[in-house]
Amino acid sequence: MGQIVSTYANKKRVIMLMIDSLMYPPLEKAVKEGYAPAFKFFIENGKVFPNIVSPFPTMSVTVDSSLLTGTHANIHKIPGLVWFHDAEKRLINYGSHIRELIKLGIIRSIKDIVYHMNNHHLSKEIKTIHEEMSMRGKGTASINALIYRGNTEHSLKLPRILTLFTSLNHELKTKGSQLFTYGSFSKLSPLKRNGYFWQRCGFNDRFSAQELKHLIETDSLPSFTIVYFPDMDKIVHKNGPMTIKGIRKVDRQLQSILDCYDSWEEALKDNYWIIMGDNAQAPIDSDRNKALIDLRQSLRSYQIMTLKDGVKDGDEIVLGVNERMAFIYTLNPERAALPDIAKTLQKDDRVDVIAWMEKESVHVISGVQQGKIIFKPNGTWVDEYEQSWDIEGDVGILNLTVKNNKIFYDEYPDALARLYSSLTSHEGNYLVVSAKPGFEFIGEGSPTHVGGASHGALHKQDSLVPMIVTGTDSSPKHLRMIDLKDWILTLLD
Ligand SMILES: [Zn+2]
Repeated sequence: MGQIVSTYANKKRVIMLMIDSLMYPPLEKAVKEGYAPAFKFFIENGKVFPNIVSPFPTMSVTVDSSLLTGTHANIHKIPGLVWFHDAEKRLINYGSHIRELIKLGIIRSIKDIVYHMNNHHLSKEIKTIHEEMSMRGKGTASINALIYRGNTEHSLKLPRILTLFTSLNHELKTKGSQLFTYGSFSKLSPLKRNGYFWQRCGFNDRFSAQELKHLIETDSLPSFTIVYFPDMDKIVHKNGPMTIKGIRKVDRQLQSILDCYDSWEEALKDNYWIIMGDNAQAPIDSDRNKALIDLRQSLRSYQIMTLKDGVKDGDEIVLGVNERMAFIYTLNPERAALPDIAKTLQKDDRVDVIAWMEKESVHVISGVQQGKIIFKPNGTWVDEYEQSWDIEGDVGILNLTVKNNKIFYDEYPDALARLYSSLTSHEGNYLVVSAKPGFEFIGEGSPTHVGGASHGALHKQDSLVPMIVTGTDSSPKHLRMIDLKDWILTLLD
């Protein structure tokens, strides 16, 4: 009976291509100038949503977690790329820079990245799209996504070069999607090319495309496939937001994927294609002294934890720097009170959002303008996403417009929910700071992008990404990343 029913069921599949740091203005430019024929094809045969709101902080691991679970970080519990684990009293860093990883201990860092993030940190209270689909008896594939948790056990084979002189096991068990690629640690195609250690172990666009093409060519695409293309992030960081170099490169991969079919039109027939960015990037000033907000300098009156030693007696502050956003933790709320730290940071007019919790409410001040806004969920004001809030103070701090008790966002999309969720995403006493476009935070060993671009912030320049969809006229309930999971599930029902 089940057999017969499934014959009539929707056989169309979702293929979702997540392109790191894809933004609409350079995409539009590249298409117009004829440098992106594959993007052009998808756009002409689909629908474009130029402004999907990414969650906060606008860092890939948090974005991917929100996409796969349909929740903000207060529910999925991946607060950012770098954050302080209050119970374990240590800084978690999923990979901001090799220098930091070495200081934090490379083995622990590798375990955090390849293992703990999916198996321990990502909340078990919620289901990923892979887990949900598997419960409905449908298969899914994850290719090079950082967040991949599913119901199928896989073993990650770590390269000898990492395990030879360390206590790391050569094999780590993990639970992923039914079909699962995680660089060369776990792969689908027998091909070895593009997956070598010096090719970032397969975490590159060519390898991602190769694995997807293997599924297409062997006719083994499951109901839902997500493929992550990581290369453009670095190109945009280096060359700034309007570069089309990365778009041209990734377009070549898209062309090779479309070429797997008898014709490009054929590729559209049984598939919904969803092609989108994960976070955007804001330009960074080319004057090093202006561009970089050194938090160790701004907060020099406090004793700051060093990466090498971890928390030691007398430490008052921990920095969790996520490029244009930072978590600032107080280890001693009496000597280093959050409102005092906030006032210190407010002296810098490159910092436009400084937020922290007091009891149930979020307090926000700014280095750009005077005043304060205090808000909490559930109240008489309703925003454009149907969320209600209790608000007092200066709405201008978050650039809100209020008309007939209705709230509209501009500079900081979905600002209230994104700030509230970040401030309740993990244990500890901390502030969230976000920088104005043009600037980024640094702590000890942070990567810098002077004269290029960077992300992490609450600002719309970091937060709005395009999405191209083929095969359906339906759209998500709201144009936010957290609204995509439910919509994708309805496409596959
Ligand atoms: Zn980046």
